[in-house]
Amino acid sequence: MPSNRKIEPISSGPAPLAEKTAPSPILIEIHNVVKVYSSAAGDFTALKGINAQVGTGEFLGIIGKSGAGKSTLLNMITGVDHLTSGEVIAHVGGKTVSVHAMSENNLALWRGLNFGIVYQSFQLLPMLTLVDNILFPMDLCGLYRRRASRERAMELLRLVELEEHARKLPNFISGGQQQRVAIARALANDPPVIVADEPTGSLDSATADTIFQVFEHLVENGKTIIMVTHDNSLAPRFSRRLYLADGEMAAT
Ligand code: ADP
Repeated sequence: MPSNRKIEPISSGPAPLAEKTAPSPILIEIHNVVKVYSSAAGDFTALKGINAQVGTGEFLGIIGKSGAGKSTLLNMITGVDHLTSGEVIAHVGGKTVSVHAMSENNLALWRGLNFGIVYQSFQLLPMLTLVDNILFPMDLCGLYRRRASRERAMELLRLVELEEHARKLPNFISGGQQQRVAIARALANDPPVIVADEPTGSLDSATADTIFQVFEHLVENGKTIIMVTHDNSLAPRFSRRLYLADGEMAAT
């Protein structure tokens, strides 16, 4: 269960992350994962037997050109989509599970508790205020009582420095601000892992930098972050990188 621990505000900016060569202790094991998409046009193998690991506390970058299979790999890790063969084993939330062996219901609950997901297009609900967007996943999981959840939502907005905008609708703030709200929403149920699919893809470089600062701060405070990007210039900002090309692991 999430604790009532304080969320540290972003202060003087994060220190650079140390380079790591091996993920340890292991949080997620990806064993020989193959994903074939079938359509009327035929079969397409998007992942051709991926073996990889994610270490606890890493800021892991999954890097590759558009179409390389990055989002597909992320979906295999979170169990958002079925794999064709292989296995993903996760040691999160004090339990070891074979992700794709779980029932749909258990998988959905497990994902909701253990993963916060951030998308390129923010995907905030336009009719809800910012604070209500953060309350939404908390209401779904029911981990917090109503009053505690509202306090936590405000605390998360403070973390991303948007507390004063709490009652605005998403369309009344900038794209970078919306992405910060989306990160706050991803943190709502205090998951150990954040996965982010091109979270800076539609932001200018200065705004993207503020998103990185939020992520770096979260990693310093114990979160594991897996981020997908096509932009190799971002590579130095991760604590470790996995390169994908044409559905396979690549050297760079
Ligand atoms: P990336 O995230 O690296 O841009 P994706 O994982 O989205 O790549 O896609 C990898 C490949 O799989 C691409 O060629 C894409 O067109 C294909 N693909 C993705 N989703 C589907 C799908 N639902 N049906 C068929 N092909 C798909």
